[in-house]
Amino acid sequence: MSKINFPESGMDKQTILDNLQAMKSKDLPWQSGKAFAYIYGTDTETMQFSAQAYNMYLTENGLDPSSFPSLLQLETEVIAMLADLMNGGTEACGNLTSGGTESVILAAKTARDFARATRPEVTKPEIIIPETAHPCFQKAAHYLDVAVKIIPVNPETFRADVTAMEAAITNQTILMVGSAPSYAHGVIDPIQALASIAKSKGILFHVDCCVGGMYLPFAEMLGYDIPLFDFRVDGVTSISCDLHKFGYVPKGCSTVLYKNKELRHHQLFSCSNWPGYTIVNPTVTSSKSGGPMAGAWSMFKLWGKEGYKNAVKACQEATDTFIEGLKSIPELELLGRPDMSLLSFKSVNEDVSVFQLIDNMNKRGWHLQLQLASHTSQEAVHLTITHFNTKHIAELIEDLKIVVLELKAKRHPSNIMMMGLDASMIQLLMDEFTPDMLDNLEALLGMDMSANGLPDDMVTINSLLNSLKPEHRDVLLTAFVNRMYTSPK
Ligand SMILES: *Cc1c(COP(=O)(O)O)cnc(C)c1O
Repeated sequence: MSKINFPESGMDKQTILDNLQAMKSKDLPWQSGKAFAYIYGTDTETMQFSAQAYNMYLTENGLDPSSFPSLLQLETEVIAMLADLMNGGTEACGNLTSGGTESVILAAKTARDFARATRPEVTKPEIIIPETAHPCFQKAAHYLDVAVKIIPVNPETFRADVTAMEAAITNQTILMVGSAPSYAHGVIDPIQALASIAKSKGILFHVDCCVGGMYLPFAEMLGYDIPLFDFRVDGVTSISCDLHKFGYVPKGCSTVLYKNKELRHHQLFSCSNWPGYTIVNPTVTSSKSGGPMAGAWSMFKLWGKEGYKNAVKACQEATDTFIEGLKSIPELELLGRPDMSLLSFKSVNEDVSVFQLIDNMNKRGWHLQLQLASHTSQEAVHLTITHFNTKHIAELIEDLKIVVLELKAKRHPSNIMMMGLDASMIQLLMDEFTPDMLDNLEALLGMDMSANGLPDDMVTINSLLNSLKPEHRDVLLTAFVNRMYTSPK
């Protein structure tokens, strides 16, 4: 680890800000509207407004609502407005969290503790998820020491397989999950069928609306054909919904909602057997900024249903335009039929590698997201189309056409073995892999990433990862990231 000394004395403010600006210049230039992942953007004025509201509450601490009653008011009002959107009636309740992952961890913890309180037969709790469920469910299970059963989805539609999910239920099952929609393919799972099974078996059912919660209700109001996914569905007991995605609230803002507060009771943690201040935490974090609460409240008030409907309409139309455009590129094919503005496509031409396609698109100023091959999907390219991306779709299709032609002319192989690397050697190495072998692997690949982080050209690494079994990918990525966070450049 390279050593950086703590500064002896202070620096002037402008130099510090200039340094930050210089560092930032290496980041994804998302302001162009050409990044189709990570950033949920709308018009600059609106983004500045929500940041202004956020900054007003940067320092206030949600840890103690009796000292900051306005934070309690902001949070309960945001939750009430959202519960209205999710048709939760007067019983629904919930909390603001730092992100979708925290919301899901809390929903899983609530299910675990609800089972502990009400089902003494459950000694080895397990949750059942479709393989398309976001990894935060596996993370929740990992953190909470709960088992997870991952059920393959329908390989054509990428929706959860209801029969297989039902068959997986045992007397240890505490929670079943469906996504509305799934991140990878943007498709809504059969929520009604799944929730009805869960209810009949006496288990809880969580709908992951992290990405869809601030979108689908407005799409429905606009007349789009959206199957029921919220508290109107009998059997749905909790819902997660991120506001820092299609709510266009600055990051650090998600929600978890419950059908009633008897359930939510199991989410809370209280501790008064220490000498410091008494703690009663509804969520994972204890001290928390009021910024996200004020940001969310202000965005809801600024836009109302009208504003969100306008944004959703633009995204729906842009998605249709993109899907139409994709049909004119025979080398690429849409995966499934997305229900909203998230989608992925694969290559159906062996000379067109999606790894190379993503790199070449990158050189043209686009950021598209890679999805490695999984059980039911081959490697694919993902796009999340948010409000500020909608103006760039025609140009995106034009550049995709150009890049596909470039790749066909050069006949870029997508297979790791065809890249002149010894695949069996790599597989062997991975079977015995320990973190200190990272350097050997890099030598084998002809690259050294220890000093400079990731190369501009990600094709080799992505192809390698894609060729490995998921458990090997995880071992390798963990070793890599563990090293990455210890060596400042
Ligand atoms: C983004 C997302 C999550 C996790 O959200 P974070 O805010 O990144 O923690 C969970 N589920 C789905 C479907 C998502 O799209």
